Amino acid sequence: MRLRKCLRLLCPISILCSLVGFTFSLLSLPTTLLVVFLSSTLWLFEYFLFEKNSIPEISNFTLDLEIVRNLATSEQRQLPTHLNSLIVAEGEIPDWIVVAGGAPHNFHISFTSFQVVYKDKTIIIECPFNKALYDKFCRFKLLGIKGNAFYEKNFNIMQKALLEADFILVTHEYWDHIGGIAQSPYINELMRKAVLTSEQISGHTIKMANFPQDVLDDYIPFEYDQYHVLVPGIVLIKAPGHSYGSQMIYVQLKNGEEFLFIGDIAWNLINIKHLTNHSRIGMLIRYENGGLLGHQLRWLFDNIWNNPEESINLVASHDLKQLEYYRRSGLIGDQFA
Ligand SMILES: [Zn+2]
Repeated sequence: MRLRKCLRLLCPISILCSLVGFTFSLLSLPTTLLVVFLSSTLWLFEYFLFEKNSIPEISNFTLDLEIVRNLATSEQRQLPTHLNSLIVAEGEIPDWIVVAGGAPHNFHISFTSFQVVYKDKTIIIECPFNKALYDKFCRFKLLGIKGNAFYEKNFNIMQKALLEADFILVTHEYWDHIGGIAQSPYINELMRKAVLTSEQISGHTIKMANFPQDVLDDYIPFEYDQYHVLVPGIVLIKAPGHSYGSQMIYVQLKNGEEFLFIGDIAWNLINIKHLTNHSRIGMLIRYENGGLLGHQLRWLFDNIWNNPEESINLVASHDLKQLEYYRRSGLIGDQFA
């Protein structure tokens, strides 16, 4: 962050100084042109990779909430009763990865698994990685990524819950969402109930989760167009951008509370609240489609965050503060059933 601030300050100063030097015959023309060229390039480079915010004025992302609600509530009596959460690990990521233009501080993040509880079954959303993959994630220290804690006990609780669940869902195919399946001692049992889409199975980011190749070869991926009601109360919504296989997951409880799991479309609610896309450098590192992400962020802002008539609770996978708020307010439980 300091380096970026220095570049932002030094580039215009060096351009100005070289022009003044040339005016007073202190610098030759070739030297002046070279300084101006190098400084301008660095300045543009910094702006394009770290500052530029690509959010469109009007979103072309299509999500009809009325259709989704109708799909979810076709069998009212069978809606889920509770939503629980379990934090498997915590860490810290630098501001410049999360938001274009940076922020005054880095972001504390959680790697969380969610359990949708029905009268007669449970469904798990998100399966964060095991300790070995978490340690790999923490090795990106040069990028400013830090690990704070890995809760082995909770990882084991999640594994037990995965075994007991009827279905296993992930918002996308990154190791911090799917690694708990790939690295599970019960992987064969889990793959029988995992609902992974063909886009998730073929997305190149799934590699980091290190699935045994034969397990993926034998798996028959799930196919759907735009929306799919998996069971009463849960609707899958296609939303590629953060990754090839990204989807949103809509959940409605029996008491009428609604949740929209948006995965990593926003790393932190700040992306939606302040209409700020991920930085281009962050997009490059993560192979993201920033154009699609921009339209999704604009849609979430216009239709949910900034819409006083909407009360859907957005769930950004890694926003620890937001999760703590939901837990305090009793909307989401803080342990698995
Ligand atoms: Zn993630």
